[in-house]
Amino acid sequence: MRVRFAPSPTGFLHIGGLRTALYNYLLARKEGGVFVLRIEDTDRTRFVADAEQDILDSLKWAGITFDEGPGVGGKYGPYHQSERSELYASVAKQLIEADHAYIAFDTPEEIESMKERTRTDSNPNPRYDYVTRIEMTNSLTLTEQEVKTRMDSGAPFVVRLKINPGQTVSFTDAIRGDVSFESETVDDQVLVKSDALPTYHLANIVDDHEMGITHVIRGEEWLPSTPKHILLYQAMGWAAPQMAHLPLILSPTGGKLSKRNADKQGIPVSVAQYRETGYEPAALVNFLAMLGWNPGTETELFSMEELIQAFSLDRVGQAGVQFDLQKLKWFNEQYVRSRSSKNLSAALLDEVQSRYGAIEATYLERAIDLMRERLSFEKDLLEESYLFADPTSYDEGACKKRWKENSSPLLVDFANELSGLDSWDRNALETALKTFIADREVGMGAIMFPVRMTLTGMGSGPDLYGMMELFGKEVVVRRLTAGASTLG
Ligand code: GLU
Repeated sequence: MRVRFAPSPTGFLHIGGLRTALYNYLLARKEGGVFVLRIEDTDRTRFVADAEQDILDSLKWAGITFDEGPGVGGKYGPYHQSERSELYASVAKQLIEADHAYIAFDTPEEIESMKERTRTDSNPNPRYDYVTRIEMTNSLTLTEQEVKTRMDSGAPFVVRLKINPGQTVSFTDAIRGDVSFESETVDDQVLVKSDALPTYHLANIVDDHEMGITHVIRGEEWLPSTPKHILLYQAMGWAAPQMAHLPLILSPTGGKLSKRNADKQGIPVSVAQYRETGYEPAALVNFLAMLGWNPGTETELFSMEELIQAFSLDRVGQAGVQFDLQKLKWFNEQYVRSRSSKNLSAALLDEVQSRYGAIEATYLERAIDLMRERLSFEKDLLEESYLFADPTSYDEGACKKRWKENSSPLLVDFANELSGLDSWDRNALETALKTFIADREVGMGAIMFPVRMTLTGMGSGPDLYGMMELFGKEVVVRRLTAGASTLG
């Protein structure tokens, strides 16, 4: 098995592209096959200089490694289509010689005027095809001498695939089953553009053949192009690879998840945005794996290794799948919370120290233990400033509602009690607080709220005793006393 991911460097890698790469990767790893990365950069008008680097960075971030491709090499290289022009030119030449392709000189204006002329109610979108080509300026309608003269004079031309009517083009898609198209519905696709570079269609099939690709796994948007590809394979006498078209990714409100409608709903579309927002790569991978594939069980959490074991194309659905950002957040929470304190602390320590001064790694690890079940993103921890520094303000709304006249004196007394405590752990603190409220004959809330508020500046947060234990006696007594005097 040889599979490939063949992105065009026309912009940042889209999450749909990452899913395609992932499914190819999973299958290759599962079957002991080879995963190839090929950069389809023949469209110079849409070329974006940083796009390739973004593709490489995104794959690496997601943990998707390839066996052949840019930077890695391989015996089927080069892996940039822009470096393979001669190959495409020679195939185009063979196709012309075998009467499977022809040269066409029509200008865009002439093609437009042909469309105007032939447009009818029953044929609203005329194409350059077996019907209209006979009235156009091409090597099928000109004499050999006329073609030669035009070419010698440097007239711009394209090469088109000659699609004859009356053929049924069929193939078996690994996801969709038997698919067929009538050749009358397919236009004479441009294979070589007037800049002498191949179009996607030509370069794609030449490379899939030359690179020995056995399975083409790509998005459903390429399904309508497949009959052209099959006809090209047939014209060259090559066996077509197994095709598999992945279901469309739909917006939560229906319709394709286009950049525009994703933006409207606050859904990032580029992998880079997920990276920058702080998503866990393993969470995005797990989520994307489930976006079109299902394991056939209730299990939702899969590591990359587990995905490789479980993945197969026959559990990929045909129907479009809705993108659910809440579900992705859920995956992210599962993954952040499952990271060890050491691992999270190593990732965060520099930033914590640069924001809050000399915090020790062991302290940070304990803070993570306390906060773990409240984290959605790794970086959430950085925002919990009270973990690292005394509060500088107190939530006014919460104080208005719950700060009472006796809050300050109670706090001062409680701080005194705490100063005298011999042991300082969660249990001792809980006992101290309970003894204190029993002595004073006040309710739990009468002391818990002021303690929490003066410790954190907020009305809610993590487990109170755990927090006091973490902060230590000196800090707790200091914050309680300071808060009592500020809030009065
Ligand atoms: N270059 C195409 C793309 O950008 C590849 C499609 C295919 O996999 O055939 O998606």
